[in-house]
Amino acid sequence: MDKRGHVLNAVFLAVGLGFILEPAGDAATFRTIAAVFVPLVLGALFPDVDTHFGKHRKTLHNLPVLAIVAAYPIYFGNLHWVWLGVLTHYVLDALGTTRGLALFYPFWDEEFGAPVGVPVSSDYSDAMMLVITAFELVVAAGLVHVLPAYLPEGVTLPF
Ligand SMILES: [Zn+2]
Repeated sequence: MDKRGHVLNAVFLAVGLGFILEPAGDAATFRTIAAVFVPLVLGALFPDVDTHFGKHRKTLHNLPVLAIVAAYPIYFGNLHWVWLGVLTHYVLDALGTTRGLALFYPFWDEEFGAPVGVPVSSDYSDAMMLVITAFELVVAAGLVHVLPAYLPEGVTLPF
């Protein structure tokens, strides 16, 4: 997916997440959209920095990088939601394009993807991005509104 696709995916995801986390459509909804908007876009742009530094689809397209970004809110109290932008970048590349990503780099060079993607320059890239964004929002809504009822007592989600 190109930069445009990743940014649009992050923008739609931010708006959708606002309504998933604060469904009333009031000030709290728009505050939530604002809170996640810039971090999601920044996170979604970050992995493709490896087109210039390192090996593309490897250096910044792997689970160790996601773990490091996800550790920032826990250890440093900053970069909240940037991990989700990085994660959605991975999902969009893996599901939306024909080339996979080296999820276990630098330990293993193998690139993993799904056999459903379209070429990055395809006319269907935007449609693919919208389908994957919708899929991600369904998963997010399930995690936020359905899953908690099935968790063991005392276990809560971190969002
Ligand atoms: Zn990428």
